Amino acid sequence: MINSTLRCFTQKGPHVSRHFLRFAARFSVASLAAVLSMAAMACSSAATGAAEAPNALTTASPVVVGTVQADSAAPARGNSPVAQAPADPALPLTFSGQEALRHVKHLAETIGSRESGGAKEREAARYIEGQFALNGYQARQQPFQFEMYEARSSSLQANASGAASIANSPLHFSQGGKVTGPVVRAGMGRPEDFPAGGLKGAVALVERGTLTFTDKVTNAAAAGAAGVVVYNNVAGRFDGNLGRSGSTIPAVSIAKEDGDRLAGLLATGGLEVTLDVDAGKQQLQSQNVVAQAGDGCRVVIGGHYDSVPAGPGANDNASGTGVVVELARVMKPVAAAKQLCFVAFGSEELGLWGSRRYVEGLAPAEKTAMVAMINLDMVGVGETWRLFGSDSLSGPALASAQAAGAVVDGFSGEGRAGGGGSDHASFIQAGLPAVFIHRQNDPNYHTPEDKAQFTRPELLETAGKIAVELVSLLVSG
Ligand SMILES: [Zn+2]
Repeated sequence: MINSTLRCFTQKGPHVSRHFLRFAARFSVASLAAVLSMAAMACSSAATGAAEAPNALTTASPVVVGTVQADSAAPARGNSPVAQAPADPALPLTFSGQEALRHVKHLAETIGSRESGGAKEREAARYIEGQFALNGYQARQQPFQFEMYEARSSSLQANASGAASIANSPLHFSQGGKVTGPVVRAGMGRPEDFPAGGLKGAVALVERGTLTFTDKVTNAAAAGAAGVVVYNNVAGRFDGNLGRSGSTIPAVSIAKEDGDRLAGLLATGGLEVTLDVDAGKQQLQSQNVVAQAGDGCRVVIGGHYDSVPAGPGANDNASGTGVVVELARVMKPVAAAKQLCFVAFGSEELGLWGSRRYVEGLAPAEKTAMVAMINLDMVGVGETWRLFGSDSLSGPALASAQAAGAVVDGFSGEGRAGGGGSDHASFIQAGLPAVFIHRQNDPNYHTPEDKAQFTRPELLETAGKIAVELVSLLVSG
């Protein structure tokens, strides 16, 4: 929602507060026009009692790309902060897409792929911490641990003449281990499907369906099985998940055809198999990088800096990280900076671990004080801007995009599908309002081709401008 003082400016004529002038001064011409027309609609709707003016605006007036008067031509500078004496301390410095791109290049080219929990991720954390400190922030690393399950390999060999090894997949979170034993059919894996005398080290062959994989494997283990093979109930193979509780014995899935073949071999006499699952949980260490100028986080601006091991992660997500670091630079002179926290999240690719740990570490008072989290993930490539997040922030977010001159393909609120796959989700799940700024359709997503050469500085600029406008709407001072 628009700032209340502003709302009734139009009705009360020249009653223009110093606060409003200061407020207005922070806006570019485009955003001021957007805000004034929103105000006009808000005030008129206030008169008529209809509260959702911002939304009305978003549909009424489409927005255009490329009106951003940013210094995208600014030459890249070493690693010293851009020396630009702000004309007015109330105004943010000009966001530079080239500066954000410089960070993208350092992360994706100089450092390269930044696998979660790995040495390159640590190197990137040091770089980001250094950049925040260079721009005058108290910067620190927030280390955290998380448990990662990894299935490295598995094999299933029937010890019958002529029987080749059987294609299989470990059930996700299956216990690792190598067992050899007779195969015993056990129906769907219900308790009553196991022989009364138990299985004493045998490998249970059960069919998919009716029960969860967890229940089937737990029942088999309780009956004394050393391992479990679950065969599909429709043609082909499948991947099954046991959930984080995992299992105490190795368990794999196979195709229906192979299940039927094993059952056939069993019918003609005893059958023994060797099941070998190389998998297990490991504790990984990672870190968030947190920068703040004051002692509170009214608005958290963040993005993850790790990447998948498959590629250098320029767009996913050195682009968002570069924008976060550049936002920290441009917002530093503004008094409001004392209410902002900038966070580069580690280990997002393995399950949003950095943002989950960050949110878990917030005290109740910190949660109460937080009015928004702004998440930037994949903002340097792609076709259209998409905004996702908390319904309560849809108005300010769309208005900010308008002010930044971005054509936005709508706002997907909490009820709508999609948009859950990034760090804002950790905040929303904890009841904290968040917005996800994103560009759709990157052809190089999670591939070796996700390179800095494809990252467009003008898009980084627009993402930065959307965030600057949004902060200006959410934080006064
Ligand atoms: Zn990402």
